[in-house]
Amino acid sequence: ITSKLPAVGTTIFSVMSQLAAEHKAVNLGQGFPDYEPPQALREAVTRAMAEGRNQYAPGIGLAPLREAIARKTQRLYGHAVNPDTEVTVTSGATEAIFSAIAALVRQGDEVIVFDPAYDCYEPAIDLQGARAVHIPLTPPSFSIDWQRVRDAITPRTRMILVNSPHNPSGAVLSADDLDTLADLLRDTGIIVLSDEVYEHIVFDGAAHQSVLRHPELAARSVVVSSFGKTYHCTGWKVGYAVAPAALSHEFRKVHQYVTFCTFHPAQVAFAEFLDSHPEHYLELPAFYQAKRDRFRALLAPSRFKLLDVPGGYFQLVDYSAIRDEDDLAFCQWLVREGGVAAIPLTPFCATPPGTRLARLCFAKSDATMEQAVERLVRL
Ligand code: PMP
Ligand code: GLN
Repeated sequence: ITSKLPAVGTTIFSVMSQLAAEHKAVNLGQGFPDYEPPQALREAVTRAMAEGRNQYAPGIGLAPLREAIARKTQRLYGHAVNPDTEVTVTSGATEAIFSAIAALVRQGDEVIVFDPAYDCYEPAIDLQGARAVHIPLTPPSFSIDWQRVRDAITPRTRMILVNSPHNPSGAVLSADDLDTLADLLRDTGIIVLSDEVYEHIVFDGAAHQSVLRHPELAARSVVVSSFGKTYHCTGWKVGYAVAPAALSHEFRKVHQYVTFCTFHPAQVAFAEFLDSHPEHYLELPAFYQAKRDRFRALLAPSRFKLLDVPGGYFQLVDYSAIRDEDDLAFCQWLVREGGVAAIPLTPFCATPPGTRLARLCFAKSDATMEQAVERLVRL
């Protein structure tokens, strides 16, 4: 058959996790924690099941959960949202991203994305008959060159996709970046899709600069987050989208036919847990900063050069002192010969980045981290 996505293969996350299993490598590739969600949260899910909350939830999400999300958004970002018209619970951030693009991007539109870009963005854009316009972020800072954005905007530009904290680099947007973005978009109809799944993982005392802090941007944005990242439960696939009523209205038209609703017992549990345990997300920066610092200290004697990590749970390492080859080849070698799975940046880029960088996930227990680093320092 004629493929609608001829350039798409199997995602690098599945490929590397399978190779990790085959080669009994320590898996620092695909981003997921190797520790459990909070016990009270797990108990709340099983309690919801025992209490018979096992049939369809409302398509847009349980009201108490949407209300809890609205309270959190107000508390953290000072932005009031209407839980009935502006918050939609989704089956992970992946579904929210797909539904937002499918609902809002039309054939022939252009969508600005920053490379390296999380791998689910472009296929969703391609499926609409739209075109991704790629703007590279350059190491070591991976910050946005706003002049390039200005130059890339055309009358066809429909959407700009931002991701902060950024996967894979950990770069974060500043308040100045948001001001510049707002200036650039003023007097245009461009929609912002803001992927903020790592919103609670920002380091060194910095505050997460959600586009929701910026009223002008909030008025034109769909903001996507994921409970998988915040509550150590990537396998539950629960996330949400916050957007003004008119955008949410269109978003929900697609969401209802992509999945209709999201896993009901987890929604019951999150509705309780968000309000009863705010310390979980408030303490997450310290929790992950300790992991980041430990991982970096363990890797210090290795021949990898460590890039700065302002947010998220990935460490980019420069391996050029170890091998002179592209990142796909290096990650293949590393999983086979080095016993550690990592993620190359090439699959996140429209054109090979030409860097000697690989991504390692530090959302890992001390034991896993030590086992991996023992192998990495030998290279
Ligand atoms: N966006 C980014 C930047 C991510 O890193 C991830 C998951 N790692 C997602 C979206 C998808 O989140 P979810 O698992 O909730 O679908
Ligand atoms: N988002 C995770 C990562 O960046 C992986 C999610 C997936 O496997 N699709 O590693």
